[in-house]
Amino acid sequence: MAPFRFDTSYARLPEALFARVAPEPVRAPRLLVFNAGLAAELGLGAADDWAALLSGNALPEGATPLAMAYAGHQFGHFTLLGDGRAVLLGEHVAPDGRRFDIQLKGSGRTPFSRMGDGRAALGPMLREYLVSEAMHALRIPTTRSLAVVATGEPVVRETLLPGAILTRVASSHIRVGSFQFAAAKRDREALAALLDHTLARHAPEAAAAERPALALLEATMVRQSELVARWMGVGFIHGVMNTDNMTLSGETIDYGPCAFMDAFEPMTVFSSIDRQGRYAYTNQPPIAHWNLVRLAEALLPLIDPDESVAIALANAAVQRFPALFETAWLEVFRAKLGLATAEEGDRALAEQLLSAMRDTGCDMTNGFRALAEGEPMPVAAEDLAAFAPFLAAWEARLAREGTPADLARARMRAANPAIIPRNHRVEQALAAAGAGDMAPFEALLTAVTRPFAPRPEDAPLRAPPLPHERVQATFCGT
Ligand code: AMP
Ligand code: MG
Repeated sequence: MAPFRFDTSYARLPEALFARVAPEPVRAPRLLVFNAGLAAELGLGAADDWAALLSGNALPEGATPLAMAYAGHQFGHFTLLGDGRAVLLGEHVAPDGRRFDIQLKGSGRTPFSRMGDGRAALGPMLREYLVSEAMHALRIPTTRSLAVVATGEPVVRETLLPGAILTRVASSHIRVGSFQFAAAKRDREALAALLDHTLARHAPEAAAAERPALALLEATMVRQSELVARWMGVGFIHGVMNTDNMTLSGETIDYGPCAFMDAFEPMTVFSSIDRQGRYAYTNQPPIAHWNLVRLAEALLPLIDPDESVAIALANAAVQRFPALFETAWLEVFRAKLGLATAEEGDRALAEQLLSAMRDTGCDMTNGFRALAEGEPMPVAAEDLAAFAPFLAAWEARLAREGTPADLARARMRAANPAIIPRNHRVEQALAAAGAGDMAPFEALLTAVTRPFAPRPEDAPLRAPPLPHERVQATFCGT
């Protein structure tokens, strides 16, 4: 049996939307990490040599390699982009009928590479593997990672670094920027074909709507509001929420400069290239909204032939984003607080806790987990009093709902992770991997992929960084 069962519908779209290009072979591919659990979920067949297939040195049977064209607003500035260092090998159809893009990232130059070398360094590819698999374990929609292959070739960055290729698995790689590309080219045929393709893959119910393009916009708004609310619930900062890094599927994509917060601080930024704090934790909902307005603009010609009608409809739709986000955020934070019902004051209750966390520098993950375990808040003794008003209000709220504390805490242990991939631990694991020792990476991966059921030996990975361990910035993997 071939390892993949390919049926690549993207390759049947108008040629303007992609370039057919094969991965460039590498010198000495070596399989460093392989996700056997994901391979089983996808129903992959056996391969004689995964390292050859997942480095691009051999093409799997049925592959139709291509690089996708897309555009994007990067930090607010519009650019024509495309897969500059990735190729889609094909769409694998799992035994249950689900369709998955199998993409090699770091696979060499493409017509969209511009000045780049088409390659990726080992550290950022391992980071993406680790964080994406942690996000999946946190039950947050995300692209997945099947493997990391070392290429045996160096890549030139500020220094020489070992090169690697990540195999990314996604329900698709269709981005807001994919629609922006077709719209910017004024290629109506490509735009319409991309719409039909996206409806079929991600919103079949919207295809039957009176205005499918508007229905797709609305469906994407719902998905993105839920996605970003979940990020907010675990303190995840994406770091590079450009429109080319926002999917129509609602999966998190692109783990370049991302990081999780330790101490709760809404203005936290990690990305070294985000000097203005555009993509700070607290700015993520309005930025998602901004990106969705860009999607609406790209879809206008398909919403109604009369532009003023299209604009009125699109405007009315995108204005609903703040309300959608509010609903999604409340759902996430009610679950984090063990609440099963809704009350008017729930936002204020959650904010009372978050404000106390911010004022005391409380670790977000450990703070919520302490509530779930019935332990004191993890702050200095003199700061405990800051939580007293919240604790009293919360206990009263649970009592009104009739939820016994034990039941609330059991629910909360399923909603509040004990372990996130803390930045300083990720950096330590990547540094060891760079020196040839994969053991810290494997240990961290094991821990962060079972985040709700920590083991005693995970304790060091749960601790926030000491002052000298704190990581200030993360870097894009370019
Ligand atoms: P990202 O910051 O990863 O979202 O990438 C933004 C754009 O730059 C995408 O079009 C990438 O394909 C492209 N890109 C990033 N790194 C490289 C590279 N080393 N070589 C070629 N293109 C790249
Ligand atoms: Mg990207």
